[in-house]
Amino acid sequence: MDADPFATHRVENQPPPFEPADLWALDPLLRLLVELHGADWARERLAAYGALAGGEILALSWEAERDRPRLRTHDRFGHRIDRVEYHPAYHRIMQLAVEHGLSNLPWREPRPGAEVARAALVYLHHQAEAGTNCPITMSFAGYPVLARDPFFGEWTTKLLVPAYDPSERPIAEKAGITLGMGMTEKQGGSDVRANSTRAEPLADGRSYRLIGHKWFFSAPMSDGFLVLAQAPGGLSCFLLPRWLENGARNAIRIQRLKDKVGNRSNASSEVEFEGALAYRVGEEGRGVATILEMVALTRIDCALGAAAEMRMALAQAVHHARHRKAFGRRLIDQPLMRAVLADLALEWMAALAFALRIVAWRERAADDGKAAKLARLGIPVAKYWLCKRAPAFVNEAQECLGGAGYVEESLLARLYREAPLNSIWEGCGNIQCLDVLRVLEREPEALPIWLETAGGQDPDPLAERLLDALPGIAEAALRDPAQARRLSEALALLMQAQLLRRLGERDPRLAEAAAAFAASRLGQARAGAFGCLPENADLEAGLALVLPPA
Ligand SMILES: Cc1cc2nc3c(=O)[nH]c(=O)nc-3n(C[C@H](O)[C@H](O)[C@H](O)COP(=O)(O)OP(=O)(O)OC[C@H]3O[C@@H](n4cnc5c(N)ncnc54)[C@H](O)[C@@H]3O)c2cc1C
Repeated sequence: MDADPFATHRVENQPPPFEPADLWALDPLLRLLVELHGADWARERLAAYGALAGGEILALSWEAERDRPRLRTHDRFGHRIDRVEYHPAYHRIMQLAVEHGLSNLPWREPRPGAEVARAALVYLHHQAEAGTNCPITMSFAGYPVLARDPFFGEWTTKLLVPAYDPSERPIAEKAGITLGMGMTEKQGGSDVRANSTRAEPLADGRSYRLIGHKWFFSAPMSDGFLVLAQAPGGLSCFLLPRWLENGARNAIRIQRLKDKVGNRSNASSEVEFEGALAYRVGEEGRGVATILEMVALTRIDCALGAAAEMRMALAQAVHHARHRKAFGRRLIDQPLMRAVLADLALEWMAALAFALRIVAWRERAADDGKAAKLARLGIPVAKYWLCKRAPAFVNEAQECLGGAGYVEESLLARLYREAPLNSIWEGCGNIQCLDVLRVLEREPEALPIWLETAGGQDPDPLAERLLDALPGIAEAALRDPAQARRLSEALALLMQAQLLRRLGERDPRLAEAAAAFAASRLGQARAGAFGCLPENADLEAGLALVLPPA
């Protein structure tokens, strides 16, 4: 008999907390891909960061997310200070990310596989904390744009220093620095040519005064920002420092912070430039082309972020289903739940394989024309498709936890609020699909290269039908952009199926997973929701790779 016969509060049939101590050790697919793409030399660093991401960073993420950044426009005497204050947890997470090379590893230590190693670090980081990934990505992606011009020598030197310094000072007084980016204005974000911010040249030919605004301006405490503004010669790119060399604040007024659905540890602001000093990057009138180099890299990070969100959501769902019973059996042993989890596992594997493949192609692009074409086409395809799949995926994983997935104490709630963002910023889905068309118009040879790579020597019989149809789908989309999503999705699925098939040569479980992916994504059995795998699909194959046996 109970000590207290009236006690009602018993906790039964609830899973133990999911505390992934080591995100690297838990992820055999990541380890295989890192090896495959020549980044095995970074194994120890990745293992160290996997432990940090699943340990300290995940623990700190709750505070960084809950205690949102606050804007202080003025000090108590009435002076403008335009300062965003963050919880110390945010700064600590930033410090760990910068010190471990997430914002600069390939630029600081260029060697084969360096971009893949850095992408794997970002994937580990994003699983635990997504908000900090924004300034990390922008700092990483802004570097190559500035590095071409010796005028920005001090900036590029300091971007390479693995030290995070959040203090408010001119860069001359800081060891390490970070970058932000400002393109979007109220009257048009996708259509940046509608930018109205003016850039008035000063006598030296390099400096300008910016007058105007940006409607979305994330990480406003960064040391500098790559921004677009209308110069006399047309839309141009500028580096806008937050502090001037003389120690004064640049005339960047932070109007307010956005009250965002998710991504809460990161501050996103609205700003006005009241004659702010900026330095031209690239030629006048070439602003879009200049900043697009940066955007190509941030778009890859969106795709990696989507894969990371899928991974963390799935791990949580599998953990829950292993421990929770309903109708006399563990959820994971219920055939229909197993089908849902197995299908999610296929989606995550294909997403991660695709994202890292794009990174590997981009890394080789300078010396390998074929890789360059695959990367150019692959970036918008992956940004579109992976980011489009992530919100539905996260919601499905959330549902696996039942009501427990819909409370803010669950990581699933945070992932659910975060997941739509990657498909919106850095160019929404339609913009990616229109970019796919732009590539095919300007570089038509990219399509046959894609098809040859996705077909391989021995294409999956289910892929053959789509491979044959694709040139027609592409022609239709080039005639009528309303078909561009259909084209982008087909390009993504074919490549994902092929990448899994190739991975199947390394591991029989992946061969089974590849067959199930092709059957459920390319064949007649294709369905709209997750959890509709064909009757003969092997449900175990994909699941075996999600978490080690309980
Ligand atoms: C949290 C957050 C942080 C952000 N941080 C930054 C930042 O730091 N710096 C920055 O510059 N921007 C930032 N952005 C802005 C973001 O990049 C833009 O919101 C995004 O690019 C879309 O632009 P828009 O909001 O003006 O929408 P619009 O351009 O108005 O687009 C609205 C919709 O129309 C679609 N569309 C547009 N043109 C076409 C077309 N020709 N055919 C079919 N469909 C079309 C788009 O796909 C989209 O679905 C941020 C956004 C968010 C949400």
